[in-house]
Amino acid sequence: MDYFNPVEVLERERLEELQLQRLRETVDRLYEKVPFYRKKLDEVGYRPGDIRDLSDLKKLPFTTKDDLRENYPFGLFAVPMRDIVRIHASSGTTGKPTVVGYTANDIRVWADLVARTIVAAGGTPDDIVHVAYGYGLFTGGLGLHYGAEMLGATALPMSGGNTKRQIRLMVDFGSTILCCTPSYALNIAEVMREMGVTRDMIKLKAGILGAEPWTDEMRRQIEEELGISAHDIYGLSEVVGPGVSIECGEKNGLHVFEDSFIPEIIDPDTGESLPPGQRGELVFTNINKEGLALLRYRTRDISALDVSPCPCGRTHIRMKRITGRTDDMLIIRGVNVFPSQVEAVLMQIPGISPHYQLVVDRVENLDVLEVQVEVSPEVFSDEIKRLEELERRIADEVQSYLGLSVKVRLMEPRSIQRSEGKAVRVIDRRKM
Ligand SMILES: [Zn+2]
Repeated sequence: MDYFNPVEVLERERLEELQLQRLRETVDRLYEKVPFYRKKLDEVGYRPGDIRDLSDLKKLPFTTKDDLRENYPFGLFAVPMRDIVRIHASSGTTGKPTVVGYTANDIRVWADLVARTIVAAGGTPDDIVHVAYGYGLFTGGLGLHYGAEMLGATALPMSGGNTKRQIRLMVDFGSTILCCTPSYALNIAEVMREMGVTRDMIKLKAGILGAEPWTDEMRRQIEEELGISAHDIYGLSEVVGPGVSIECGEKNGLHVFEDSFIPEIIDPDTGESLPPGQRGELVFTNINKEGLALLRYRTRDISALDVSPCPCGRTHIRMKRITGRTDDMLIIRGVNVFPSQVEAVLMQIPGISPHYQLVVDRVENLDVLEVQVEVSPEVFSDEIKRLEELERRIADEVQSYLGLSVKVRLMEPRSIQRSEGKAVRVIDRRKM
């Protein structure tokens, strides 16, 4: 299958007509149904019918995570509760969770989007889709599950954790597509080795991996160890869940399904729109959602848009892989540091495992970054002098890449806590 839904290859002009019509309907509906948006739109002088061109989007107000929290739990819903058939919520690390609601039609549209992502990763109705994202209020598990069923594939609702059992069933049932976070995929590969399960004992051919930023170096390692084609999937519950965008076989950016979402990149400080190619904060507007539709939602994820045509034939715009978040970017002695940048350096050094943590501390008013990284068992048994050389090499390479001196601490194999979901990459002791 080349694609799941013909809208994926709709010519640009037609696609933009569809976007304009849906944007106009969405904004006017929100103005009528959601007091929060009526107030915000009144503040910028919006009158129903004012959307005449896609560029009019830039005149609309932004929505933030705080807006969702302040209207907790259902204040931004655009339909009566009797029309809501599903609720999800994101685990707030601080304060109230953000709550999202779907109508029956929203669930169908979402499943269609996720079915498109599975096909983009090479999936067909013959596949067994091993869903190791968490099931529950988190959108990952049920999102992939409904997408697999919409495609007509076989959904295997594993949820996260219990890694040995995941692997046993993967062997017994012949799972062909693995859906989980990239760090958990690496954890699975490692436990497979411990169990003596080799690549030829499993039938995996593709991975649909997301919910945390990762690098091409990490992709190469996952592909090599599991013998799969690994595809980055992007989504967030506020906008719909997984299925906002996906890498096709080209693996050169993620196609954003523009019949449902309009993406923008803004300068996170000024809110100004940035042209294609420039990096900034990713913003989405829902144009095909009933229960909860957000205007210009600020994701805090850092990306850039690529409008060049893709050889796969999909006409939808591509976003670059997420390189970090505006809020978990570390600023250390004036240098902006994303964990993914350190990861990219580490993954190029032989003898280093993909398990690492960045520990930031403040010593005598000076910020210090310590890179803790596991080494392979062979390297760990080397003499101290060799280990010291390796520490120095890592520190040198990080310094030349980031322009920042760091402390490096090599760790025993398996001493850094393994991820069963999102990996904890940063421990910031400065806040304590
Ligand atoms: Zn493509």
